[in-house]
Amino acid sequence: MTTWTEFTVAELRERAGDDAFQSAGQGIADMDGPHEDDWSLYSTITLDDGQELETILHHRAGKPLSGDCTCPQAHGGAFCTHLIWVGLAHLGLNTPPSAALDAETTPASELRPWLTTLPQDQLIELIIEAAGTDRGYRRRLFLQACQPNHQ
Ligand SMILES: [Zn+2]
Repeated sequence: MTTWTEFTVAELRERAGDDAFQSAGQGIADMDGPHEDDWSLYSTITLDDGQELETILHHRAGKPLSGDCTCPQAHGGAFCTHLIWVGLAHLGLNTPPSAALDAETTPASELRPWLTTLPQDQLIELIIEAAGTDRGYRRRLFLQACQPNHQ
């Protein structure tokens, strides 16, 4: 886990503005990347018309997101839709941007109706997966497991 590289969907939206955010992913036929180094994500984006764009998204901890792209939009100083798409792809959210934002901001309790439909073994897998990626959650879960069973 490299949590120090993380940024949020909300930050991408704030940086780019809602109009650009909502159009992210449109017109993109293919993407090579993102390839990462410590603070940057490099991607080559192929547009529907075959044009290729080189993008670099910088996400240094404690600094605002920034980036470069070879499109005209970015050349004019904008945080373009391509940079947003690279960011979303890095977060594993290659979905319509509004869905990506919902996934980040909707209260977890709204998952309850869906969770009640899942079989127990699938629920157990989901909890183990969460415990494997969140150290705090894992600690609390293990402490609960060690306590006397009051049921
Ligand atoms: Zn661009």
